[in-house]
Amino acid sequence: MTLKLFNTLSGKLEDFVPQNPPLVKIYTCGVTVYDDSHVGHGRSLIVFDTFRRYLEHLGYKVKFVRNFTDVDDKIINRAKEECKDFMEIADRYIARYYEDTEAIGVRPANVEPRVTDHIPEIIDLVRRLIDKGYAYATPEGNVYFSVEKFKDYGKLSKRSIDELIAGARVEPGEDKKNPLDFALWKRSKAGEPSWESPWGEGRPGWHTECVAFVFKHLGETIDIHGGGLDLIFPHHENEIAQAEALTGKPFARYWMHNGLVIVNGQKMSKSLGNFVTLREIYTKYHPDVLRLLVLSVHYRSPLDFSWEKMESTKKVYERIRQAVEDYETLKGLETYDENLGGLHPLYNTIKATEEKFFKALAEDFKTQEALAASMELISEMNKIRNEAFKEKKISKQALEAYGAAVNSLKNTLRNIFGLLEDVLPRCPVKKVVEKEMEPASRVMDESLIELLIKVRQMAREKKVFDIADTIRDELKERGIILEDTPFGTKWKRA
Ligand SMILES: [Zn+2]
Repeated sequence: MTLKLFNTLSGKLEDFVPQNPPLVKIYTCGVTVYDDSHVGHGRSLIVFDTFRRYLEHLGYKVKFVRNFTDVDDKIINRAKEECKDFMEIADRYIARYYEDTEAIGVRPANVEPRVTDHIPEIIDLVRRLIDKGYAYATPEGNVYFSVEKFKDYGKLSKRSIDELIAGARVEPGEDKKNPLDFALWKRSKAGEPSWESPWGEGRPGWHTECVAFVFKHLGETIDIHGGGLDLIFPHHENEIAQAEALTGKPFARYWMHNGLVIVNGQKMSKSLGNFVTLREIYTKYHPDVLRLLVLSVHYRSPLDFSWEKMESTKKVYERIRQAVEDYETLKGLETYDENLGGLHPLYNTIKATEEKFFKALAEDFKTQEALAASMELISEMNKIRNEAFKEKKISKQALEAYGAAVNSLKNTLRNIFGLLEDVLPRCPVKKVVEKEMEPASRVMDESLIELLIKVRQMAREKKVFDIADTIRDELKERGIILEDTPFGTKWKRA
């Protein structure tokens, strides 16, 4: 069965053919780390995590890159509000992002680049764009991409440059030549994070980082570029302009966009203030309920979020979970032989369900149809279970078929949809991927904690107790608890 995907670039359903199978290179735009992630972020994370699991199930070897935007106006503003360094804000929300994604079963990407770790690569990219005549530096120390130089501008969002120019204007105080030109490098204002560059002290513009990350970690052309619908214009359009201006090759072969999360008819967003954080959800509900809600809607459709929907999805989830958990109780019942003259009929349902499940996923990843097929199987399992509980016994043949149905759900709902991982043992695929993962560079790692403990010890020996106490307190704030014992200082995570 060939996988068909809707490609935003062509506007059509296309056969998915990676460049170098079995390798599939995927990049998705990650979060800006200035606050906790909300359901809008969660949807995109869950969709692409599930899609990645599905590709792995198909036998592909997926290299997945997802970034952190750790320099941005919003982070800088938050840092000012809290009188902290911007990096402290970014580190805090990256640590919280990992707690959130772990809770909702979203696996880390293979590489998770940060802007602050890639400044030389970004400067190099900007310099190459200037050299090729696609970008210009202004006397004020900004660098812009000259949109009219890139003839394909607008091809992803299906907009014409002329229309865009007609609707845009240069704001007072801006030093662009054309209102559509976008910043590749911005001069930093006093007190803002800044780096040395050929154009003076400044920081990268947002649209540049993703291109630099893709070039460095995946190469010039990737198989799939993903993200939310709201990123198509201008962000992804601007990524294409920079990358293809430099290489002359397609930046991504397939552009895959998930629909937005809607609350009372409006997009869920931080700026509208109508957002619900992932933390709020998974502290109230089993995190699988959110995964199930997301996967019960096609990834390209809008997802209406409400607490009522969470309640009704919770009921569906409990039905699935119960069907799996009851297998243990059924195994404890008295058994008898049933002469069926062939296989138990549940085997036919299992086969038909799996066929429908995989057919639905192969047709533009229709998780909602795949899920509906699984629910049919669960209904049949429930009939067997209800009968057995009523009779207080079960036939050996029915019990065996029930076990096969549980196994089938392991392959579909657990291994691919990422549900029921706490009920059913983990799949081996997951372990392999975890081993390959490169952790984000500045999340507290063990060697750094050990080093700080050593420095604190030296401070204590020299009786500089305020430094020693600061180290202990700062570590505590990051969730690392120190304990002084007769055998030295021990540490543990809070
Ligand atoms: Zn991006």
